[in-house]
Amino acid sequence: MTRSRVGRVGGAAGERAATAWEELVATARRTVADGLVVGTSGNVSVRVGDTVLVTPSGVPYDRLAPDDMTGVDLDGRQVLGTLVPTSELPMHLAVYRADTGARAVVHTHAVHATAVSLLVPELPPVHYMTAALGGPVRVAPYAAYGSDELARAMLDALTGRTGCLLQNHGTVTYGTSLDQAYDRTAQLEWMCRLWLTASSVPGRSPSLLTETQLAEVTERLRGYGQRTDERDGS
Ligand SMILES: [Zn+2]
Repeated sequence: MTRSRVGRVGGAAGERAATAWEELVATARRTVADGLVVGTSGNVSVRVGDTVLVTPSGVPYDRLAPDDMTGVDLDGRQVLGTLVPTSELPMHLAVYRADTGARAVVHTHAVHATAVSLLVPELPPVHYMTAALGGPVRVAPYAAYGSDELARAMLDALTGRTGCLLQNHGTVTYGTSLDQAYDRTAQLEWMCRLWLTASSVPGRSPSLLTETQLAEVTERLRGYGQRTDERDGS
């Protein structure tokens, strides 16, 4: 990534970008405050038009200021800022370039979710919130961080889903807003914690929801989504 390009957006577009950046920084700080990441790991992005604002690489979120706005186009060319974008840019861009309708992506190393990624190829459907993520959450096979291979594996695992786990690595969720993407991460981490807790009881295996039970919830959530967010096409 180039460090020399410094873009400035003026007018209404500039205001939209500034507000989105503020929300992005708040969301990134929340991942740390809520214990979903440690230090500068994990990353967050939000799409404004054809620009993707992303957290820069290696800068603690509590130090990010309005002037640190970092943005790339959908091909990954830096169009805003001088800080180097997150090394996980290929994953973020893959989500936006695919026909997902995503406006925001959250990637964390949440401990329970990452623990589940070491154990199974798919999180068993232990709770009806599984349906809110599109169905049982898959684990993308391991690939090195920041690689195109990881981005491809993630996209496969996201088919028909709004979240997935990355084997021996963490979580990825997207949504039509930063709040929605963040909430999906929190729900995913909570479900992973739930499954780990229940499955750690000796001599017992957790009961799971059936496909019919999940389909019923999917129907209900669909109605709910239309009332709260008309742009939700996922
Ligand atoms: Zn990561």
